[in-house]
Amino acid sequence: MERYEIVTSELQKIFVDAKCELDYKDPYTLLVAVILSAQCTDKRVNLVTPTLFASYPNVYAMANAEQADIERIIHSCGFYRNKAKSIIECSKDIIAKHNGEVPNTLEELVELRGVGRKTANVVLSTIFNVPAIAVDTHVFRVSNRLGLANAKTPEECEKQLMENLPKELWSKMHQLLVLFGRYNCKSKNPSCESCSLKGICKEYKCKKN
Ligand code: SF4
Repeated sequence: MERYEIVTSELQKIFVDAKCELDYKDPYTLLVAVILSAQCTDKRVNLVTPTLFASYPNVYAMANAEQADIERIIHSCGFYRNKAKSIIECSKDIIAKHNGEVPNTLEELVELRGVGRKTANVVLSTIFNVPAIAVDTHVFRVSNRLGLANAKTPEECEKQLMENLPKELWSKMHQLLVLFGRYNCKSKNPSCESCSLKGICKEYKCKKN
């Protein structure tokens, strides 16, 4: 069995119904939620988005919002000035370039102001069913620990995961690695002794030797 097959099989047992933990109802609300989730928990974002979308229910309302008002609503998510600016600017771009519809290609998404590669990949894989691996802090850490990648940057990690995993698993593995990193293989104090993957984990072997 290849390494990725062992990892996939174990993680699927732990997270039977792995899916994005952000609340959203369409590509636009997902995009905004993903922008808000940078350096913030999904739980926190889910507390904020109902108020945000009640005040600004669509891309047109958001594009015309006062930045200070958005900042006030999203304040608790951190980096609120940058995030508010990104939300307004990307909303303007979606209207100007895509008739108000969130585009479904990586090239078009990363052209939107305030939308980086990681955000674009989350949107692509979560709602458009386009195979993609968004490398956030969890995916980066866990992939390296489990030997699915040996990367120094998120970009390098994404490239290696795309080489090492079959395309049909990219989106699934993104979710599984995020959840495993969030709840089990945490940055500090990972649950190593109870981990079913410690036999192949590079971090665990380093600690033991
Ligand atoms: S053994 Fe520890 S560090 Fe390795 S994958 Fe499991 S939880 Fe993470």
